[in-house]
Amino acid sequence: MKRCEYEVIVVGSGFGGLCMGVKLKQAGIDAFLILEKDAEFGGTWWANTYPGCAVDIPSHLYSFSFAQNAAWSRRFAHQGELLAYTRDVVAQFDLAPHIRTNTALLGARFDEADGCWTVRTSQGELRTKTLVTSLGGLSRPSIPSLPGIENFSGKAFHSSRWDHGIDLRGKRVAVIGTGASAIQFVPEIAPEVAQLDLYQRTPPWILPRPDRIISDTEKWLLARVRPLQWLYRGVDYVVYEAGAIAMVYFPSLLGAVQRMAKRHLARQVPDPVLRAKLTPDYTFGCKRVLLQNTYYPALMLPHVSLLTEGIGHVSRDGIVGRDGVERPVDVIIYGTGFDVGHAIGPIDVRGRGGKSLQDAARDGLQAYKGCSIAGFPNFFMVTGPNTGTGHNSMIYMIESAADYVLEAVKTLRVQGLHSVEVNQHAQTAYNALIQRRLKGTVWSTGCKSWYLDRNGRNGILWPGFTFAYRRITRRFDIGNYAVRRGDGDVK
Ligand code: NAP
Repeated sequence: MKRCEYEVIVVGSGFGGLCMGVKLKQAGIDAFLILEKDAEFGGTWWANTYPGCAVDIPSHLYSFSFAQNAAWSRRFAHQGELLAYTRDVVAQFDLAPHIRTNTALLGARFDEADGCWTVRTSQGELRTKTLVTSLGGLSRPSIPSLPGIENFSGKAFHSSRWDHGIDLRGKRVAVIGTGASAIQFVPEIAPEVAQLDLYQRTPPWILPRPDRIISDTEKWLLARVRPLQWLYRGVDYVVYEAGAIAMVYFPSLLGAVQRMAKRHLARQVPDPVLRAKLTPDYTFGCKRVLLQNTYYPALMLPHVSLLTEGIGHVSRDGIVGRDGVERPVDVIIYGTGFDVGHAIGPIDVRGRGGKSLQDAARDGLQAYKGCSIAGFPNFFMVTGPNTGTGHNSMIYMIESAADYVLEAVKTLRVQGLHSVEVNQHAQTAYNALIQRRLKGTVWSTGCKSWYLDRNGRNGILWPGFTFAYRRITRRFDIGNYAVRRGDGDVK
């Protein structure tokens, strides 16, 4: 068997994978690779190129603490600027030699003989001591299987696979879904299409987006007075973190914000019939809250229709609603979100004794601190289960998890260990606590959302302050792990 040629292989080159790469570099660990299935690194900000694509956390906060950017052009950066930022990070930390694009992970197997992983990729086999996945839950498009879609004579694509080859100007377009992606691209395409039919199943709660251009003077100051960058970041962090008080601990406090959202709707939509269709009937915050100023006005354009009757089937020429009315269209755009429960997809990961990760994930993947899984030695995740945040920057959570994984990698190296594997009882107790905490949160107030799996279990969100997650990931708690030394002893 080929020796363990890499110390770490990271899978995924979004913010999570790149963060892991920087941390490894900074720790002086050089024998690592970052695998990326796509043609370029950048993850979600590479894949999502739909018009209007932007972040909804302020950019000074939605960026790495170790690579702050004084040059953000606006408060909520657009996709192009975020992708450019990932390129700057790769250049600044000299990550390019470590990144292998067009290299998809197909499978991985833990070899008990030497405590290494044999990693099968679309470009051949590799061996590594530690395998770290940062696949991101929002990477596999969820496309509904609409009856009759195979007969449709027009074009169809998903928001995260935007087909820029199709000129939408003057076309009749159907958009399915009214989530975070759709409310960003609908206002962008609405003015140029001939007809826009928007199929809404559930209206989202929407707040005004406090976006603004950052002036040249401000950028100049930010570049020269470094503490100012920390101040911007710190203020945004505290303001957003306060959201956890209501979302996690006292959902009733959200009533005041819900009234703000209703006022936003009333201000922008004078028509009471349209307004009624756009008013959610579930608690504010239960599904992801969206920020947008231009969505409601777009729905009032004369050629835009908000359709709530539901889709019956697709015909050759268009969509037939449940009311039996056929509406001809040239293009269907799915703004239908992602298959979050199956981020691992067809990847065949086998841990100790051939244990399958797909099987472990069948009823919802559970991990210890979102990072490690019993039965999978020397295997870690960044952006793992219950590390998502409904109120603050995901980058903060990513940095916390990456620090934890780095400590594990360093422990393996310094102590010359064969493997570390989290104990099942530690994992079970941790998840019981997480699920108990989730019960009282706003995400458990009865709506249907992608945070919940088919059993109603939330395996996505972190139920607490983000600084609390940082606290539990600060050190690698080896006491909760089964440790095998080189000679095969289990401690
Ligand atoms: P999403 O929020 O899951 O929205 C999907 C939409 O499609 C929902 O309105 C859903 O309705 C609808 N839908 C799904 N299947 C349907 C079907 N069979 N028939 C009719 N409607 C259907 O997906 P997304 O907009 O792509 O966003 C996903 C996540 O990505 C967000 O929650 C957010 O975390 C992230 N995101 C962030 C940003 C940002 O930072 N600005 C932008 C885009 C995305 P129901 O509500 O009834 O299920």
